[in-house]
Amino acid sequence: MRAARTTPAFPDLEGKHPCFSTTAEGHAKAARLHLPVAPGCNIDCAFCRRDFNRVEQRPGVAARLLSPDDAVAATGRALRIVPNLAVVGIAGPGDPLASDHAIETFSRIHALWPALTLCVSTNGLMLPERVDELAAAGVTTLTVTVNAVDPEIQARVTPKIAWKRKRVNGVEAARRLIDNQLAGIARAEKLGFTIKINTVLIPTVNDHHIGEVAKTVAEAGARMINIIPLIPEGRLAHLGEPDFIARHKARAAAGKHLTVFTHCQRCRADAVGTPGLTDFTRELYGDDIRAE
Ligand code: SF4
Ligand code: SF4
Repeated sequence: MRAARTTPAFPDLEGKHPCFSTTAEGHAKAARLHLPVAPGCNIDCAFCRRDFNRVEQRPGVAARLLSPDDAVAATGRALRIVPNLAVVGIAGPGDPLASDHAIETFSRIHALWPALTLCVSTNGLMLPERVDELAAAGVTTLTVTVNAVDPEIQARVTPKIAWKRKRVNGVEAARRLIDNQLAGIARAEKLGFTIKINTVLIPTVNDHHIGEVAKTVAEAGARMINIIPLIPEGRLAHLGEPDFIARHKARAAAGKHLTVFTHCQRCRADAVGTPGLTDFTRELYGDDIRAE
């Protein structure tokens, strides 16, 4: 297993992108701004519960949506408030590639502040169609959430998707999602993206399958994997969080194929600061950020 690193996996990003830094020192250096501009999603993960509130610390949650105009203004303010801001990411609350808001936001930010690293996190359904647009908008780091590469397992995680304006269910939906994720990762690798995979570790569903996921995405072009313990929500609220041994086994299985990211804080879609260390949300948005 390659989890405990003392040397950086990505020297160009170490200390400059908290979630592509692999040493404790590197992870603590740079801040990221998550802009919650992605309104909706095109798939239906069984564990997902998107919400607007100020209190929950988990993905899929933001105080409110921002328009691209709001997001550009917030970036300008953040650059004045957050001294070590280096990365602007879009990771929700829905999927950044399910609408045009994220790519428009990235293009405008890249034109104004080209030194910022731009980062996106997607379920990958639209990646083959939109990854070239991401590259043109200045995005260089990419996270794709891949929870299974076996359609039978994936169908239990994401039982339906919206594809070409139609609803697709079950194994057929799962096969489409996996095919698009792998094709999108391969294209992104050719375009020069640095690619991380997020895999939600779901007890009794995919906990025996993590090594296969890591092997398959590594062959497609991914460089790192982040195993995220399930937060039991939605239709998987009855499952517990995976325990320490399950997490260790999953990381060991994945570490045979990829660098394992171990510092994830399971951040909100509107997080601002250095993950796990600083939080500038109130300074940035003040009273303007509230549930709607
Ligand atoms: Fe929720 Fe993300 Fe799954 Fe969409 S891709 S349903 S936002 S967890
Ligand atoms: Fe980084 Fe994890 Fe937070 Fe994403 S959720 S910004 S990978 S620490």
